[in-house]
Amino acid sequence: MANTQLTTPDREALERSIREIGTDLASAFPSGARHPLRALDQRAMDLASADQELKTALFRFVDVTPACRSLDDLARHLREFLREVPDAPPPLAAAMRMADNKAARTAIGAAAAAGVKHMAHRFIVGETPASALGVLRDLWKDGVTSSVDLLGEATVTQPEADRYAARCEDALTELARAQRSWPSRDVLERDSAGAIPRTNVSVKISALTPLLRPDAPELGRHDAAARLRPLLRRANELGAHIHIDMESLDSREAVFDLVLEVLSEDEFTTGPSAGMVLQAYLRDSPEQLERILEWARASVRSPPLTVRLVKGAYWDHELVQASQHGWPTPVFDVKADCDRNFEALTARLLDARTAVRVAVASHNLRSVSHAIAYNRLSGGEDRDLELQVLRGLGDQLQDALASRGLRVRTYCPVGDLVAGMAYLVRRLLENTSNESFLHEQARGTPLDQLLAAP
Ligand SMILES: Cc1cc2nc3c(=O)[nH]c(=O)nc-3n(C[C@H](O)[C@H](O)[C@H](O)COP(=O)(O)OP(=O)(O)OC[C@H]3O[C@@H](n4cnc5c(N)ncnc54)[C@H](O)[C@@H]3O)c2cc1C
Repeated sequence: MANTQLTTPDREALERSIREIGTDLASAFPSGARHPLRALDQRAMDLASADQELKTALFRFVDVTPACRSLDDLARHLREFLREVPDAPPPLAAAMRMADNKAARTAIGAAAAAGVKHMAHRFIVGETPASALGVLRDLWKDGVTSSVDLLGEATVTQPEADRYAARCEDALTELARAQRSWPSRDVLERDSAGAIPRTNVSVKISALTPLLRPDAPELGRHDAAARLRPLLRRANELGAHIHIDMESLDSREAVFDLVLEVLSEDEFTTGPSAGMVLQAYLRDSPEQLERILEWARASVRSPPLTVRLVKGAYWDHELVQASQHGWPTPVFDVKADCDRNFEALTARLLDARTAVRVAVASHNLRSVSHAIAYNRLSGGEDRDLELQVLRGLGDQLQDALASRGLRVRTYCPVGDLVAGMAYLVRRLLENTSNESFLHEQARGTPLDQLLAAP
């Protein structure tokens, strides 16, 4: 696969620059010792990664936590799940024995619930936008901007979709009011295309309609559009940005069509600032990008569409779906192919930087260093590339990027633990996957290898 359009000598210069940038960023990572709680979580994650059965049991446990009515109930579930782990480590074996007694079950339940809550708070910044404001303000103070994601996925009824839309609208209003008084930060609020909104909310189309089905995409699109338009209007009034997240492949066409159609409507010609997501793990993502760029070049809208490039959070799901239906796999099955495609798409996006705003979302130091290096070597300014990370997973990278004066946006989920469970499980899966960059990094893989071309 062609990686970039650079010629051979440029290719060498690019690799050299990636190594320099990656090494410099790694040297700016805050040390683990300054984050003892984070280090503790990391040990729990390392334990889970090392043992597949334990990992599966823990994921299933995390999944049922919100449905448990009492601490006793929670401990019973913990014991049931751990029974399936053939050689439980000694502390767990002791916990399982204790869980046969009601008083002990309550104590274990309390400890487990506290553990899950603690873990969740690493990824979820607050229960409501108001309670998240302190964290968001501190990030801003440290040179980091944010996007708020209201947790709550896959709506199944119309009232649920109405409630989600109302929560998004309230969040826009509340955040915009508070963020207006924050001190100005040029790096975070201006690029070559102009002003960048302080208020940024990420929205899921599956939460805006219960009708998003691959067999009837029209219906879901129509229903979601009716809730998306008022949000865009409100964002426009407030000068805020709306970002549409991308979910699994079965809703991709509907989401693409919906976003491009609604943003083409006359009333949205001059705003609000808006964006969508491209998933590099999909084999057909290069064609999807061409479609976006064609639309963006033909569009008279301003500000330009922001494209957030990600690898994709539903990799296991897409593989299972395809194998169940006997379909060819829509995602790359070799990690290096996905990483190479990510770099090729980064280059293609940066080459089109006047038609779109580019946001590269990754915790992979190689992928991020490649984006920064390619942008510079192809004549771009640092301010025309946004780097994005997830709260809890990308904290160290976030601090390193901010310390180097680069624009970094942290994706901050807001909501209660129940709504956050699906999100939390995906993040845990990602963090303990053997092929994940973060896992490699935590295992102590040398920097040279981490920064090597995929
Ligand atoms: C700010 C932000 C917003 C995001 N929004 C979205 C969104 O809207 N939609 C969405 O789907 N995701 C989204 N993500 C999640 C993103 O897709 C994951 O963070 C990403 O998958 C992890 O990639 P990485 O580059 O950080 O890490 P890496 O460790 O380099 O990559 C891990 C990823 O590689 C892919 N992969 C793993 N194993 C294989 C394999 N064997 N073969 C091929 N590919 C493989 C998977 O996509 C996996 O998640 C977002 C991430 C960020 C930071």
